[in-house]
Amino acid sequence: MDWALQPPKQTCTACGCTPQDETDANHPPLDMAVALGIDINWGESLCLCQSCIGHLADLIERPSAVEVQKVKKQAIFQKKRADKAEEKMEKQETLIERIKAGAKATKELRNA
Ligand SMILES: [Zn+2]
Repeated sequence: MDWALQPPKQTCTACGCTPQDETDANHPPLDMAVALGIDINWGESLCLCQSCIGHLADLIERPSAVEVQKVKKQAIFQKKRADKAEEKMEKQETLIERIKAGAKATKELRNA
């Protein structure tokens, strides 16, 4: 069975909530999960609102969308931090190579 998020065209099959007014620009309707190819009540789709999807996710202990977003932000922050540390290490490696080359040249001059 395939599912898709689509703009609401009917009430939620589980709770019967009615989608918000689509003409209200401040509160656009949230997409609902529609089971593709599933027909109920002769022509209607199996359709779940995001609240019901959240309840189902809680039942199987899935993280909420808010928690997922929080973890994604933390991952992005840690990636940036790791990139900066790697860049700093590369600069230090370059500096160490230059110091070693300078010390070798100084030693060669003293021995010449
Ligand atoms: Zn619902």
